Amino acid sequence: MLMQCPNCQSKDLGKIGSQQFYCWSCYIEIAIVGTALTVHQVEVDGSLSSLDDLFSDEERQVQ
Ligand SMILES: [Zn+2]
Repeated sequence: MLMQCPNCQSKDLGKIGSQQFYCWSCYIEIAIVGTALTVHQVEVDGSLSSLDDLFSDEERQVQ
């Protein structure tokens, strides 16, 4: 499967879990839930904030 960052379109993704990836270009965490991607930004304090609102359902669909 070809993973691509939905935010910056980079393919430079590091795998951090079985269904979780980290974008080294824009520093967001990408997880696959079912057939959709969920995107989180890692805050300076280590917490995660969802960026899903920035993307349409279509953009978050796993191809
Ligand atoms: Zn990115």
